[in-house]
Amino acid sequence: MKLMLHDLRGRPEGMAVCGRVSVDEVARRDRSVAAVEPVQVELEAREISPGVFQVDGTLKTRVAYRCSRCLTEFWEPLETPFHERFVRLPTPAGEWDQEDDMTPIESDEVDLAPYVEQALILALPWRPLCRPQCRGLCPECGANLNEGPCGCSDRATDPRWEKLGELWKGISGSSGGSG
Ligand SMILES: [Zn+2]
Ligand SMILES: [Zn+2]
Repeated sequence: MKLMLHDLRGRPEGMAVCGRVSVDEVARRDRSVAAVEPVQVELEAREISPGVFQVDGTLKTRVAYRCSRCLTEFWEPLETPFHERFVRLPTPAGEWDQEDDMTPIESDEVDLAPYVEQALILALPWRPLCRPQCRGLCPECGANLNEGPCGCSDRATDPRWEKLGELWKGISGSSGGSG
């Protein structure tokens, strides 16, 4: 998704920049994200002062998360605002305020895809949950506790762990003779 800065010169009303951006890289890098639909990008770009370009709008998509407790995949819509300010180098004034949060650009062509991807990554939840009260997985048998109790907690000891206990006794040398 390209923004041509020279298209914005002498157009104080700005320009709409719309399209779709694929962000497959996000799912590859973030383990809590299984998939992301192409992002629907709706932006307005304007030259707010000579050589300085403001791009604002909204990003919309649907994300398949992996629940951080039970690992179930679930889809949810994601919508996040987008704000980015670019300064075209060299600037007419020669310098720009580096503390002003602007991205320096050395060409008339700006690829917006990496900025869209970055904004999306920042909007992702830290630890996604399939539901607020997700019960997660049983630490003993791995069953998904949202689907009902697995029975582990009802019993003092799972028979499988008892066997393992016997095995340990064998390893540590004490012959219990429990065969
Ligand atoms: Zn869950
Ligand atoms: Zn269990």
